[in-house]
Amino acid sequence: MQNQARDEELAFFCDHCHRHGLKITPQRIAVYNELAKARNHPSAEVMYRAVRRGHPNISYDTVNRTLQTFVDIGLVNLVEGIGGVRRFDPDRELHHHFHCRICGKIFDFHYERFDALEIPENIREIVTVDSKKAVLSGVCRRCQSQQSASSNAKKIIKKENNHGKNRRQH
Ligand SMILES: [Zn+2]
Ligand SMILES: [Zn+2]
Repeated sequence: MQNQARDEELAFFCDHCHRHGLKITPQRIAVYNELAKARNHPSAEVMYRAVRRGHPNISYDTVNRTLQTFVDIGLVNLVEGIGGVRRFDPDRELHHHFHCRICGKIFDFHYERFDALEIPENIREIVTVDSKKAVLSGVCRRCQSQQSASSNAKKIIKKENNHGKNRRQH
């Protein structure tokens, strides 16, 4: 991150904390800085390992609680549930997600037509919608190529076994 962008991000952070009556502590700054850098929607565990490098005395509990506090005051977003551990998203701009069901990676994407998705009337009548995010799930390119590589490997092994059998018959 450029210095200026980092300063702006820190200023935004301090301002946001002030407005929500949250004290600015070195630990909170460390957690926020680390999350702002993250591009992989980290879990609390991953965040803990990253923050600990610069703050060896910080506990997992502190990191976890700090992240939850940031979610509560709208500083970061919680990635929509996928049945696993909670994942955090520093990107406050509207964007959508693709979840890989094999490796668990979450990819961001932007698509105006999803941003403009219409809310069905029967839903609009009973609730107030304040966020619209699309979640796609499937298999990422890397996992696809690993899957096809491993199925090719199986085919080769099968072929070699057959070959061996045939040879023995001769
Ligand atoms: Zn994957
Ligand atoms: Zn995201």
